Amino acid sequence: MKALIIVESPAKAKSIQKYAGDDYRVVASIGHICDLAKGGKMGIGIDIEKDFRPRYVIIEDQVKTVKMLAEEAHKADSILLCSDPDREGEAISAHLLSRLKDIGKPMKRITMHEITKKGVKEAIANPRDIDKELVASQEARRILDRLVGFLASPFLMTFFGKNLSAGRVQSVLTRLIVDREKEIDEFKPEEYWVIQANLANVKSETFVAKYDGKPANKETASKIKADLLADTFLVKSIEAAEEKRKAPPPLITAKLQQIMSKSFTISAERTMKAAQSLYERSFITYMRTDSVRANPDAIKDARAWIKEQGYEIPKTANAHKNKDAAQDAHECIRPTDLSVSSDTLDGDEEKVYGVIHKHFVASQMLPVIYNTLKVSIEAQSSKHILKAGGKAIKIKGYLELFDVENGAIDIPNLTKNEAVNLAGKEPVVAEQKFTQPPPRYSEAHLLETLEKKNIGRPSTFADLLAKIGTRNYVERRGNTFYPTELGKTITNELVKAFSFMDINYTALLEDKLDLIATGKLDRTKMLSDFYVPFKLELNKAYASHGAKECPKCGSPMLEREGKAGSFYGCSAYPSCRSTMSIDSNQTVSI
Ligand SMILES: [Zn+2]
Repeated sequence: MKALIIVESPAKAKSIQKYAGDDYRVVASIGHICDLAKGGKMGIGIDIEKDFRPRYVIIEDQVKTVKMLAEEAHKADSILLCSDPDREGEAISAHLLSRLKDIGKPMKRITMHEITKKGVKEAIANPRDIDKELVASQEARRILDRLVGFLASPFLMTFFGKNLSAGRVQSVLTRLIVDREKEIDEFKPEEYWVIQANLANVKSETFVAKYDGKPANKETASKIKADLLADTFLVKSIEAAEEKRKAPPPLITAKLQQIMSKSFTISAERTMKAAQSLYERSFITYMRTDSVRANPDAIKDARAWIKEQGYEIPKTANAHKNKDAAQDAHECIRPTDLSVSSDTLDGDEEKVYGVIHKHFVASQMLPVIYNTLKVSIEAQSSKHILKAGGKAIKIKGYLELFDVENGAIDIPNLTKNEAVNLAGKEPVVAEQKFTQPPPRYSEAHLLETLEKKNIGRPSTFADLLAKIGTRNYVERRGNTFYPTELGKTITNELVKAFSFMDINYTALLEDKLDLIATGKLDRTKMLSDFYVPFKLELNKAYASHGAKECPKCGSPMLEREGKAGSFYGCSAYPSCRSTMSIDSNQTVSI
């Protein structure tokens, strides 16, 4: 009879059903069916002493879905778990498997980078077991986030106010914005001067040359200006060259978000929503990826498409390499069918698809060739050097697809040792300038920084940015982020207390999660290497604010409300049941 395919979203189910045919029934789990419990030891849903074993419970809103999935599973001959092709999707499939395995039907995992006839056929032809390493990596991330969220947030709430929260990546993101504001506050502008001369060759063709240096005050600048005004000039050297810029790789999640934010002011959140919909409706490949690899067939299509449009193609296909071979299991974001143009869509989807289309095609086009010119001019008696130069497109290459002017090199023909003269009414101009503080982060710049510094996953950036705004740790004015006083206060406290606030440390954890995903690092070892020092830092943080230490386990004692009034209870409850009366400070029961 029928095989059941379980995917994440109803839209994806509908698309797959179309290609899979009547032998399959496709249903949606609507994302995760379970999450870490908010109970158990210390209320964190993780048994720390037992190798950080997570305790999962069905998400309340998903009880109905799970019941429906079980009913469908009973009716089917076999089950294919087809949640999204990434760590999160692998975990969803693992949870579905453990929930449905007692029904006794054969269950396999399949993945689709594109929801097309070809993608569906290939996926069904290649069923596999759940990848335990991918699941371990997802679980480790979830547990790290839970440990920080559930243990560091109460510290903030105890001493700095209700409803505060710390997050492993969220707080580091806030820190970037807080640190930048500090840099701006502490910035001392420095004076410098820019000196420019108008010059002309023997044919009276004029051009501008810049003094090669940045005098720091008016006296020096005036002296140089006077020297130049009294001097004669010779062309000392001319360097004409060509510069080549290779076609950029096709898009990955982080780049797509940056481009949408920069060029269209479409937020990461809106971008991901549009991309998700495009994926589920077969327009593009999976949108959460850090791989620039493209399927050889797709590259062939791109080359054919480029030729059809009348552009030249490189002799051999452009190769774009991933930083890490592990990323090769995935694909870049690209259209599934290049003949589909963005005109068939509207709103954000039209724009997002257009950008994806353009960048994928561009990735297989010729490089841009620029003409560059560097001219050096020497003042004969003062020996001051003036520089002039420019850059212009010679062969447009992949820039044919983008709205770019060719530009021009605004310098007349010159020869070496040719004499040039000052020209115009005001031949030398000296202008006072001041160095500028670094700019506040825009969303595009922040997204770029997160990617560069390897903080968190691009697929979660959109949520994180929204969260620090809602929590009132940062404020968004136009497209610029400012920290709030609250954001500054809690960031300072967290930085003082915890190593997870260190930006390099966050990046290191990201690398470790990658190692778990490829089976090169043990999940429990990684979690324990994180937790042991973190717990010590946490205890120290409480102690530094005057919290008492539990005589039994060293954890901070927190004020609790009981039937007989307030008392101190160990924060490690229920794994430690130590309590103290507030008056005598004596341990009354253990
Ligand atoms: Zn204790």
